Amino acid sequence: MLNTRPFQESPERADLRELVESLLGRHLPADRALAVDREGAFASAAWAALGEAGLLGLGGDETSGGSGGTVGDAVAVVEEIARVLPSLAVDYVVCGMAMRMLGDGAGSPVAGWMPEIASGAKVCAFGLSEPDVGTDLLGLRTSARVDGDRWVVKGQKLWISLAHEAEVAFVLCRTDPAEEGRRSRGLSLIAVPLDQEGVTVRRVHLAGMRAAGTCEIFLDDAVAPLDNLVGARGRAMSILGKTLDVERVLAAGLSLGIGRAALDLHVSHLKEREAFGRPIGAFQALQHAAADSIADLTASRALVDAAVRSIEAGEPSLEMSAMAKLVAAESTARIVDRGMRAMAASGLAEESAMQMYFRDARLQLFSPVSNDMIRNILGESMGLPRSY
Ligand SMILES: Cc1cc2nc3c(=O)[nH]c(=O)nc-3n(C[C@H](O)[C@H](O)[C@H](O)COP(=O)(O)OP(=O)(O)OC[C@H]3O[C@@H](n4cnc5c(N)ncnc54)[C@H](O)[C@@H]3O)c2cc1C
Repeated sequence: MLNTRPFQESPERADLRELVESLLGRHLPADRALAVDREGAFASAAWAALGEAGLLGLGGDETSGGSGGTVGDAVAVVEEIARVLPSLAVDYVVCGMAMRMLGDGAGSPVAGWMPEIASGAKVCAFGLSEPDVGTDLLGLRTSARVDGDRWVVKGQKLWISLAHEAEVAFVLCRTDPAEEGRRSRGLSLIAVPLDQEGVTVRRVHLAGMRAAGTCEIFLDDAVAPLDNLVGARGRAMSILGKTLDVERVLAAGLSLGIGRAALDLHVSHLKEREAFGRPIGAFQALQHAAADSIADLTASRALVDAAVRSIEAGEPSLEMSAMAKLVAAESTARIVDRGMRAMAASGLAEESAMQMYFRDARLQLFSPVSNDMIRNILGESMGLPRSY
């Protein structure tokens, strides 16, 4: 019988999924997940449990204190977390990116933080977006200068996940002028401690991904030791660029998790809810909507799996990971919409997880990179002129 579970997985991968399911079942049962979402809280007990089980360290080099694992393992974990609380999966992706960036020969003493980040003892945030730049990231305004033995950072970051919990934020800033008109040159990534006078963190409240801990960070001559530079000065975009494919398939895994959970709930509602003396799932119009959703989910999963295989094989994966991100996000937006229609009033009830999936699926359309930018990349890959 058709179901929403992944197909043809190794027993090890299935065990990994089961581990996440049982950990979250204990530390973040469904009613607690909805409460955490409503309160916009951080699911700290679940985070600690993920750290203790070594799951926050996935993607980090084992010799440096990470847990190793494959890209496919991390995608499976993010999918399982997203089924329960999509906002927590957003934070998980941030942590996974830190693992990869610190382990990938970043060549800075901050790489020594990996064990603490992997255990959950140290929480970090990634400050790229700003009030005036998101998609056009290279136009950022935050800057840093050297003053004796430290960096002095000035600027503002917006929509930064987990910043209210984090000890440190990896802040993308301009340290040097753009070389030969290339805006990607001269940008650096500096680990800025958040508990200091020059930093103010303000929580922002959103209609979706409410428990991801989204914040605004004001950097008013914030300081950081010179050693807190990650990788080479002025070359942040090459460090970030190396992890782009993985970030996109992790985002795709997050979409799969939301889509799968929403479709499971949708189908059970079709079986349970009655109208005109029969389950509403007996009406052809409603069956067709669910059929479109299982086809969407299955097609997305196949593309995500193909992108993961391509990355794991070390092939150039820019287009595959971009397509996986795009297709999974758009499919999930359709899946949650169909789920909401089928559940009608009960889908909007606070007690129903469908309203959470519906709101959270919006983020997937524009973050970590907007689907429109993905379309631009794919257009260029087909030999069409750059449109921006
Ligand atoms: C819950 C949440 C968590 C987040 N976490 C983080 C985080 O931890 N760290 C961080 O740095 N950021 C984070 N972000 C920010 C996120 O990465 C940005 O929202 C995203 O990059 C899009 O930027 P924007 O919202 O400024 O949209 P804009 O860049 O203003 O885009 C607006 C619209 O214009 C379109 N557009 C722009 N340029 C083009 C173009 N050339 N061609 C076609 N269309 C275009 C976009 O697709 C979009 O539809 C988070 C956001 C949210 C909501």
